[in-house]
Amino acid sequence: MRDEEMWQAVQRRDHGADRRFVYGVVTTGVYCRPSCAARQPLRDNVRFFATPAQAGEAGLRPCKRCRPLEHWQNDPEVALLLDLCRFVDAQAELPGVAALSERSGKDAFQLNRLFQRYLTITPGDYIESVRLRRIKHALRDSTSVTDAVYDAGLGSSRGLYERAPRSLGMTPRQYRRGGEGLDISYAIGDTPLGPVCIGATDRGICYLQFGEDREALLAQLAAEYPQARLAPMTAQAQPAFDAWMQALNAHLDGRQPSLDLPLDIRGTAFQVRVWNYLRSIPYGEVVSYGEAAAAIDAPRATRALASACAKNRIAVLVPCHRVIRGDGDLGGYRWGIPRKRALIDVERRATRQRDR
Ligand SMILES: [Zn+2]
Repeated sequence: MRDEEMWQAVQRRDHGADRRFVYGVVTTGVYCRPSCAARQPLRDNVRFFATPAQAGEAGLRPCKRCRPLEHWQNDPEVALLLDLCRFVDAQAELPGVAALSERSGKDAFQLNRLFQRYLTITPGDYIESVRLRRIKHALRDSTSVTDAVYDAGLGSSRGLYERAPRSLGMTPRQYRRGGEGLDISYAIGDTPLGPVCIGATDRGICYLQFGEDREALLAQLAAEYPQARLAPMTAQAQPAFDAWMQALNAHLDGRQPSLDLPLDIRGTAFQVRVWNYLRSIPYGEVVSYGEAAAAIDAPRATRALASACAKNRIAVLVPCHRVIRGDGDLGGYRWGIPRKRALIDVERRATRQRDR
């Protein structure tokens, strides 16, 4: 099939083409089967691949929505990979890589290649991701941290505490208490959309809010973190803050679409899931609340999703402004609808100029 025919099949969401090729979207890093129901990408961002293996080798991950691997089950390599993933998922006590070797008859090197090729992660990463998924679900649903640990199938809570800072941004107990005991340094700067207050922990930016003036901004910050220790940014941290402000202003002018600043995202497991998803929506695009809920595998949670967007503490960097109502209405925005409209307009203009 020629590229043009494949693009037409994608536009028709042609089920008949599902086992003939997959397409990748370079802006999201995901590959799909032609019939995928997700929002259709811009032609410029699409690449075609004869097999999922080739898409994986190009560094793309399989789409969670259309699950392209499941449609290539007849491929013996894909069948083996899926068998190993299901095996891991089904174990109450998570197996190590050695158990995968034993099951498949492949050595560690071959397993590594297999997982990297299709999932772009190592077998160890896959096992870890299953573990984290269990921990996050358990933390949200359980009444105590200890319950969560046992629900996640872990023998002791030590492993959870060691892993927590990297994965959740705070220890499980802090996570439940709204970030008590945090040290946050803050500074105020000017943007085309008005003054902003930026707050940061030693891990990165945890707070970015627009406001009317300095007093209002400081009052908002204190209200947001009543339990945290707040202090003005030190002279030592000032150069980093200046660089963030410069990047933010270039971004708000449409000159710097991707804004890769260090973030320290904190919230409930569901909020973190929503906010991470928001960060994957390409610059210049918008999705509806319903589409966003479907994309995080929670199609009935539209209202909870809208509430998580409204509770976003990191304006622009966690782009909640890219979610609008299904009828095209802009919906709500924590920092005022005019700012939401301005952000969407700048992105559309910059994207149109780039695509021209
Ligand atoms: Zn898809």
